[in-house]
Amino acid sequence: MTKITDHIKAANGKPIFSIEVIPPIKGDNLKSLLDNIEPLMEFKPPFIDVTYHREEYIERPMPDGTIHKIVTRKRPGTVGICSAIMHRFGVDPVPHVLCGGFSRDETEDFLIDLHYLGIDNALVLRGDPAKPFNTFKAKENGYAYASDLVEQVANMNQGIYLHEEETSLAPSNFCIGVAAYPEKHFEAENHDVDFDFLKLKVDKGADYIVTQMFFDNRKYFDFVDRCRQHGITIPIIPGLKPISTRRQLQILPKLFHLEMPADLVQAVEACENDQQVRQVGVEWCIQQCRELTAAQTPVLHFYTMGKADNIMKVAREIF
Ligand code: FAD
Repeated sequence: MTKITDHIKAANGKPIFSIEVIPPIKGDNLKSLLDNIEPLMEFKPPFIDVTYHREEYIERPMPDGTIHKIVTRKRPGTVGICSAIMHRFGVDPVPHVLCGGFSRDETEDFLIDLHYLGIDNALVLRGDPAKPFNTFKAKENGYAYASDLVEQVANMNQGIYLHEEETSLAPSNFCIGVAAYPEKHFEAENHDVDFDFLKLKVDKGADYIVTQMFFDNRKYFDFVDRCRQHGITIPIIPGLKPISTRRQLQILPKLFHLEMPADLVQAVEACENDQQVRQVGVEWCIQQCRELTAAQTPVLHFYTMGKADNIMKVAREIF
C-alpha cells in the first residue's frame, strides 16, 4: 500500500480529499458504515483513517442488587474495518494505534497484524483516559506518551523488535502520523511545551501530522508557522468538520478543547431549524476549505463522525 507522504507527493500540490471514520457501536452492522463511505468515493480519497476505541469501565447493576464492574469495548473492530476498506474500495486505511490500553508487547502484536495485512500507515496516538476516568494512565509496561510509541514503530521499521537480539529481522514499513492541536492540547501548560513534545514525536520518527478540528483557519495557519519556526517540516494535515447541529456549539469545544469563532456561533444561533444549521455548517466549512486550498494545504481531512452527507456537499464545491 502507498504511504500517506507518497500520496501527498503524487498529488503534486493538488489538495487531497480524505476522511476519518469511527467503528460502529458493538453489535451494529458494518454495512451502514461502508454504505456511508461509498458516495464519498466520488472524490477519490487515497486514504481513510479508522479510529481506535480503548476499553471502558462501566458499572452494571445486577438482579441481586449488587453492582458489577465490567470492562467493555464499545466500538471494537478497527483492524477489521481497515481490511474491509482495503478490499471494498481499494483505498489505503490508516488505523489509529494507541498507547492507552496496550502494553508494549500487545502493541508489537498489533503492529505485526497490520504489517501482515499490508497496512503501511498508522496514526500513532496516546489516546484519551479510559472512561470514566479523567486522567490518562499507561498500562503496565505500556507508554504514557505518543512519542514513545512512535519510537517503537520507528524501531520496527528498522527491524528492531522487542526482546530480540537478532539484527536481521524483517523491518515493517509504516508511515507514521501523529496528532497535534492548533489550539493546544488541553493538558499542556502552554503552547511552547506542547510544541516541544510535538517536535519530540517528529524527531523520533513521525512522517506527518494531523490536526485536531478547528473552525478558525487563522489558528491553523499560525500553528503551521510556529511548527516551521520550531523546525518541524513534515506535512501538516488540517482536520475539518462541518457543524451539523446547534448542540455542537457546546459539545465540540468541550470534547475537543477548541474555540468556536463568534461569527459562526452567531450564524448558527440565528438559524430557525436544523436544516438551516446544517447549511450554515456546510457553507462555513466550504469557506475554510477554499482558504486552505488557496494556501496550498496538502490534504483536507474530514471527521465524518458517522455522517457523510454534509461532507459530500462540501467536497462537491472543492474537489
Ligand atoms: P501526546 O503526544 O502523548 O501528548 C499528550 C499530552 O502530553 C500533551 O499535553 C503533550 O504536550 C504532553 N506530552 C507529550 N509528551 C510528553 C512528555 N514526554 N512529558 C510530558 N508531557 C508530554 N483518541 C482515541 O482514543 N482514539 C483515536 O482514534 C483518536 N484519534 C485521534 C485523531 C486525531 C487527528 C487527533 C488530533 C486526536 C485523536 N484522538 C484519539 C485523541 C487523542 O488520543 C487525545 O487528544 C490524547 O489526549 C492525546 O493524544 P496525543 O497522541 O496527542 O498525545
